[in-house]
Amino acid sequence: MGYKVPFVNPGKNYAMIKEEIDAAYFEVMQKGDLIDREQLKRFERNLAAFVGTKYAVGLNSGYDALHLSLRAAGLGSGDEVVVPAHTFVATASAVVNVGAKPVLVDVGKDFNLDPEKIEEAVTPRTRGLIPVHLNGYMADMVRIMEIAHRHRLVVVEDACQSLGSSMLGKKAGAWGLTGCWSFYPFKILGGYGDAGAITTNDPDVALFARRMRYNGEDRQTGEYHGHGFTCLLDNLQAAFLDIKLRKLPQWIVRRREIAARYRAGLGDIPDLTLPHYGDPRRDHIYQNYVVRAKQGKAFSEYLQENGVEVLTQFRKPYYQHQALKLEDRGFPETEALSREVCSLPMNVEITDAEADYVIEVVRGFYE
Ligand SMILES: *Cc1c(COP(=O)(O)O)cnc(C)c1O
Repeated sequence: MGYKVPFVNPGKNYAMIKEEIDAAYFEVMQKGDLIDREQLKRFERNLAAFVGTKYAVGLNSGYDALHLSLRAAGLGSGDEVVVPAHTFVATASAVVNVGAKPVLVDVGKDFNLDPEKIEEAVTPRTRGLIPVHLNGYMADMVRIMEIAHRHRLVVVEDACQSLGSSMLGKKAGAWGLTGCWSFYPFKILGGYGDAGAITTNDPDVALFARRMRYNGEDRQTGEYHGHGFTCLLDNLQAAFLDIKLRKLPQWIVRRREIAARYRAGLGDIPDLTLPHYGDPRRDHIYQNYVVRAKQGKAFSEYLQENGVEVLTQFRKPYYQHQALKLEDRGFPETEALSREVCSLPMNVEITDAEADYVIEVVRGFYE
């Protein structure tokens, strides 16, 4: 179905930066720079500088970033790790796949871990805490770090949706032992396939990830330092991502413009809650513009039928999928927002006129 306003438009995005992307492609291809070359190192330096950490290590995906972070922290069998009940499933799967147990905690109105509820879930076995900065807005890291210090928990930030956002001027991904990044095509910094990274200030963690992404091998000496994995960020993707990273600050400005436009056009509808949280310490980079519509499914279906492509993540919370064998202790906020969520088109490709059309359709639903 052809939408009047598609949710994303990767072809149009490519057209915006075609010259630079094509030049990078030809350079990489002609030199044969495919694995762990200068383009990857440059992207890692620039990513670390952007986030404000000493190191960045390019990986194959956000999942790998979470997985290697948990391994670097030595978490495994017998350990419990607190994760939000409302997140992408990979956050919990990484915990399960290192042999530890995810302990789910409900989220607050900002879709992020509710600091009030974390300590109820902490037991003598709890060793890790994974705050997720969902949709482009950070979890309250001031309170979360306080709780983590009090209980000596390792903090791994799932920052996959929040590159560029900050709290008190300190960026997402610079607070915990690691920040985990995904450059999946539809993330705010999206590659042309799977990609990810870890950021960290800890030299041992950076070294561990560098070896483990390459089957445990130290590439200088050839020594294997453990049974590793194959999850190195492709050099070609790194070259593309480096170009897009330079555009990111101006792209965030554009996303904020669209968010302001939605707010001006939709802020007065009582049954619709917009993602503006009013905490002056935290800024939103609008990876996603997720509204909560009391009318739930009828609302998102109406938008789709009227040419606005939307995403409804996640209607069915991940812990309700039987095969995952996770404990559903009842998470009222997660359940409520799962019924109501609807992501409006939010990307740098859409025009003001398209955003206005989205506003018109949404208003049409309520009239
Ligand atoms: C995208 C995402 C991931 C996983 O990233 P991949 O690169 O797809 O493995 C993990 N957590 C969150 C919150 C995400 O949005």
